[in-house]
Amino acid sequence: MSEELKPCPCCEGLNIDKFESHHRHTVYCIKCDLGITRNTEAEAVEAWNYRRAEDALKARIAELETKLALEQIKGLDLCMCMLRSKVEKQVEDT
Ligand SMILES: [Zn+2]
Repeated sequence: MSEELKPCPCCEGLNIDKFESHHRHTVYCIKCDLGITRNTEAEAVEAWNYRRAEDALKARIAELETKLALEQIKGLDLCMCMLRSKVEKQVEDT
């Protein structure tokens, strides 16, 4: 199992450990003792690393960054369009 463990969601501690007891697997924070127990190590790791709010926020940030980039492109297009018509008008006037 080489999957990286995220910091503790409670205290943001980085010292996270795992142990098995009575065929149950636990991932826990050494600093604050927060832990999560599942039937397999993979399930315990997945549960530990699952951050609903964090994942939702990351998705929303990506969505907004895309929207912002598109707005900037639109703004540039508008500038180019205005410049082009200005130049065309000057050419017509001469
Ligand atoms: Zn902790």
